[in-house]
Amino acid sequence: MRIARFSAGGDPAFGVVEGDGAEATIAEIEGHPIGTFRLTGRQLPRADVRLLAPIIPSKVVAIGKNYAEHAAEMGGDAPAAPLIFLKPSTTVTGPGDPIAYPPSSERVDYEGELAVVVGRLCRDVPVETAYDVVLGYTCANDVTARDQQRADGQWARAKGYDTFCPLGPWISTDIEPDDLAISTTLNGEVKQAGRTSQLVHGIPTLIAYITTCMTLLPGDVILTGTPAGIGPMRVGDEVAVTIEGIGTLTNPVVARG
Ligand code: MG
Repeated sequence: MRIARFSAGGDPAFGVVEGDGAEATIAEIEGHPIGTFRLTGRQLPRADVRLLAPIIPSKVVAIGKNYAEHAAEMGGDAPAAPLIFLKPSTTVTGPGDPIAYPPSSERVDYEGELAVVVGRLCRDVPVETAYDVVLGYTCANDVTARDQQRADGQWARAKGYDTFCPLGPWISTDIEPDDLAISTTLNGEVKQAGRTSQLVHGIPTLIAYITTCMTLLPGDVILTGTPAGIGPMRVGDEVAVTIEGIGTLTNPVVARG
């Protein structure tokens, strides 16, 4: 199932995406996809709605240097234990929404990532049952002010600007996340191409590790790390993250107003 959050001109609603391309439709649901819901019977053409970020998390927990080749391009090895950091919920933005390039940075990078959407409140989750807490998966861009990441020593500012966490286009609930192709294009040119099988610390390990520290709430999002090939974006660019079995998350880059 592919769960989208959308607006047809009114309040945001959730729906189930059916079909592909120009034929795609969205079946509106009543209730919340985390919990019980039912189809209302209202069916909208995909082309007639605006897709929104598929979930609004209480927090985004992100993992640094979780692909060996990316760790190498950053000048080191992948850490022995997952390296976790937080992006505020206010970084989240939707498919098609602009990434706002702040005037305070001279280098803002894309980082295409597989995002895990948590489906239930959980803490101290065992590795063996970690997938039980997952609702599904979506595409993410862990946008980073690289100059500020280096200058600050910690990453809250560099990773925390409004719009620095595009999510979407929807949540895919029925895919196996272990070996998916993931790629990022900038203005149509492939910049990152990897597979999730290259994750240094896999998804169950990440969930177990994170929840030994903090409780995850329904809707929280885990960014699993980016493959090699990071690089800068400029105002006017269009960046797209595509993950096999999910879809493509596309965002334009605009100057922050
Ligand atoms: Mg990242």
